[in-house]
This record gives sequence, C-alpha cells and structure tokens, in this order.
Amino acid sequence: MTQKTLLCVVAHPDDETFGAGGTLIHAASGGAKVVTVCATRGEAGEIMERVNATPETLPAVRESEYRKAGQIMGVSESILLGYRDSGMAGTPENDDPNAFIQQSEEQVVNDIIEVMERVKPDVVLTMDAGGGYGHPDHIFASKCALAAFEQLRDDYSHDRAPKKFYYFAFPRSRMQEAWERMAAEDPDSPMGQVDVETLGVPDEEITLSVAIPQHEDQLREAFGAHLSQQSPLDRMPDDIARGFLTEEHYIRVYPTPAVQGDETGLFDGI
Ligand SMILES: [Zn+2]
Repeated sequence: MTQKTLLCVVAHPDDETFGAGGTLIHAASGGAKVVTVCATRGEAGEIMERVNATPETLPAVRESEYRKAGQIMGVSESILLGYRDSGMAGTPENDDPNAFIQQSEEQVVNDIIEVMERVKPDVVLTMDAGGGYGHPDHIFASKCALAAFEQLRDDYSHDRAPKKFYYFAFPRSRMQEAWERMAAEDPDSPMGQVDVETLGVPDEEITLSVAIPQHEDQLREAFGAHLSQQSPLDRMPDDIARGFLTEEHYIRVYPTPAVQGDETGLFDGI
C-alpha cells in the first residue's frame, strides 16, 4: 500500500494547529505524510506578554512556532509562501501592497499548484470559505486552495490529481455555545462584540465529524507551541475546550455530492 498524503493550506502560522491540528496528528500517526502550506508569517498577529518578541521579530518567532508545532504534530514539511499578513478586516494592514489579500489570485494559485505538483497530495484540506470568523486572509487562502485543486483536476489525468478536497470547519452551535459561555464569564471581553450568527458554519453543512480523543495531549502540546498568540484554550471553560480538542469537523467539497455520514475519514476510498 502506498503512503497517503494530506496537504493542509492555511493563511497564518497557528491556523493549521488551532483549526485542524487533531486531524493532522491523526493522519500522521496513521502513517500518512502530512504537509502544511501557510501563506504568511502572521506578522499582523498579537504579541502575548509571555514571549520576548517585537513587531520586528514577530515574523521569525511565528515561523519557528509554526515549525515547532508541525514537529509536535508529525508534519513532514511546514511550507511558508512568504506573503504579508493582511490583518483583521478593516485594519490599515489590509491596504499594504505586500498584504496577502492584495496579491493576484493567479499568483497565489500558482504557488499552491507548485506545491501540489511536488507533494502530490491525495487529500487537500483548507479553512472553510467563510474563513472561520471572516478573516480576509482565511477567506483568500481558502479560495486559492480550492482554485488550485480545481485547476489540477482539470489539467491532469485523475490518478495524478488530488482526489478529495475538504474545508475544516466549526459547527455554529458549538462555536456559539463556547462564545456565550466565555462572554458570560468575562463580560468585558471583545468577544462579546462578535456577531454569533457569523461564527463557524451552519451545523447541517458539516459532512464528516471525526472523534480524535486519543490525540488530545499531543494537540494541547501543539497549541502550546504558538506561545506568541492568544490560545483559544486560554479562555475556554475546560469542558468546552475538550469538545474542541477531541472532535474535528469537515465539509467535503470534492467529490460531490457529500452526504453526512457517507464516510468515516478523510482517506476513505483512496
Ligand atoms: Zn489565521
């Protein structure tokens, strides 16, 4: 049996861990080769007091956090495309000519295709089309990953192109429960301002959920590698955190139609 390969495309160092870390660990521990591609070094991210970093050193700090988390998760190769983090929606960084979202889709798609041609993934995974919570870099990375996948499918004989494409996603009911609990515990938190109707994806769009409780400790360790950033676990009540750490959710985009419960894992049928 040949080794299966999973490629995960994200925008910032930590998206792969916070969004799909359990899946990456699960695939790698099952013998698959796992490769991540990250568009930026997350230079517009926050700097937590616990790390010794400045805005100038943050890109290098986040690059090393990305590689360390990758090692913890069993990722074979942690690729960076080297674009600039565009910042949260509506911030001045959006307009920087080097910002990721200012780049041409064609160029980014070509970068991702180059990786796909070399790595030859069976399965491609990226953030959901709404970017989890609407971050413009997330949305652009997701769009470019899908366009790259579709272009390869059109160009190649089917046995060479990646066979399946997924979004990793958070069910809205889970996100809302977490948000409401966290906002209740800390009424001054900026999270209280978020429109909970935009969080995650509608539950019924999820086509596959995979329980991965066996990887919780390893996943917590990978979360801990992103020290410069606020961890989603920092403020979550423990029962909520465990829910996020022990089950991950996907929307299968290819092949369609995808029906909830028509498969048990990303590599089914490959
Ligand atoms: Zn991100």
